[in-house]
Amino acid sequence: MSQLALREFHSFQAAGKDFVYLVPSAAVFELDDSSAAVINRLRAGNISREDLARQLSALFPASEVDETISELLRVRAIGEIGVPEKKSPKVMPPENFPLTTMVLNVTNQCNLSCTYCYEYGEDKIVDTENGKKPKFMSEETARESVDFMLREAGANKVAHLTFFGGETLMNFPVLKSAMSYARQRAAETGKQVDFSLTTNATLLRPEIIEFLAENRVGVTISIDGPKEMQDQFRVFSNGKGSYDIVAPKIKELLKRHRSRPIGARVTLTSQTLDIRKIYKHLTEEIGFWDVGFAPVTTSPSTKYAIAESGFDAMLEQFRALAADFLEAALENRHHGFSNVKDTLEEIHKGVSKAYPCGAGLGLMGVSTDGDVALCHRFAGSDAHKLGTVRDGIDRLVQIGFLEKHHIDDKTDCSQCWARPLCSGGCYHEAHTRYGETARPNLHYCEWIRGWTDTCLKIYAELSVSNPKYLEQFDEKVDYEASQVS
Ligand code: SF4
Ligand code: SF4
Repeated sequence: MSQLALREFHSFQAAGKDFVYLVPSAAVFELDDSSAAVINRLRAGNISREDLARQLSALFPASEVDETISELLRVRAIGEIGVPEKKSPKVMPPENFPLTTMVLNVTNQCNLSCTYCYEYGEDKIVDTENGKKPKFMSEETARESVDFMLREAGANKVAHLTFFGGETLMNFPVLKSAMSYARQRAAETGKQVDFSLTTNATLLRPEIIEFLAENRVGVTISIDGPKEMQDQFRVFSNGKGSYDIVAPKIKELLKRHRSRPIGARVTLTSQTLDIRKIYKHLTEEIGFWDVGFAPVTTSPSTKYAIAESGFDAMLEQFRALAADFLEAALENRHHGFSNVKDTLEEIHKGVSKAYPCGAGLGLMGVSTDGDVALCHRFAGSDAHKLGTVRDGIDRLVQIGFLEKHHIDDKTDCSQCWARPLCSGGCYHEAHTRYGETARPNLHYCEWIRGWTDTCLKIYAELSVSNPKYLEQFDEKVDYEASQVS
């Protein structure tokens, strides 16, 4: 007689109900009384189907228990011992996977000297001072990159071109000419190009603002919050803070550029962790539509690195802001805490990642000389090069990278219920922490699991109390392009 056993899931409560997040299918499943009873009984140990039905017979009719067991087997919340689990084989992406987003590092120079910057500080992986890379991308390289992007987009009708730096606007002429060339080539090849950029806002001026608005360019501003926080790390080379320079320019941009929502992207450090205060300032006083937060990427020894206790404090803060988000979502009001929204979308779509992000797959970064790397953060690093815009991708290198970084090969993650959404975390973070892109980011697992649990609860609460809110995620939203930071 085969025995029933629990399979891999994470249980949680929301809206006064029991839910499980099923790891094999990355689905959220609401438990009714009988399925909760079956699961609870199985927590005490494996048991045969018949004995289980007998034990629960005082509470539920036998037919209901039977149906519940079948349903739980179907969704793979439980399994039968001895019946070999249909373990999906390691699924590799198809060859010539289309490029969705190309990030063009139009310069590796910056007019700020942010203390924590991964490109210039002690964590840098690309030698921007003494290396061979040109400081600015030429028009010709930008054009070759556009051709590369349209070629690599395959059958995709839309390609996303994101401009990045250094400080992107230090090479505004090349950005402009690349856009015009991309439009022309896209029209000739029957495609469309969506444009976006990330900037520190110091170089925004009326004609640039006009250009961005007229051309519907998506803009993400790197900013850390109110003056006292922004000026701690986001400083000029003479140490002077940048808040007084950027705040009025951003307000001008927000006033004029109304064709697309403009977002802020905040780097959190151990010294700037007051997330609610930062959010309030950036949305209510500056006027951003949404705000995304990410902990600083750095080795643990730097004084601004977020240590374990800092991750706890950060989680508490994230949860407080997420509670505000939920309150707004229940009333169909906008709330711009984009970290929650992005995770809700992934949960809704049942995302189960073989890789933490699109780097080296649907997303690639191009350095100033046209070398193609995993993503913008690796652009210019020979060790993480996948090819060049002229010669294309070296498929053997790409396949080797994808083979090595697949979640099935991250044994540390194999027992973790959060792996469908985390998949080991950012390669650049892993490289900075451990010197190895394939290492899972085990320093922040508790934080990831805590945050994923919070988002699952919000998702479940909305699915019970305002399911209409979740319908927006039925539409495909490509946020990969807007998350470049
Ligand atoms: S890095 Fe940590 S949280 Fe992420 S999947 Fe691996 S074990 Fe889980
Ligand atoms: S998550 Fe990390 S590796 Fe992936 S695209 Fe972003 S910076 Fe690059």
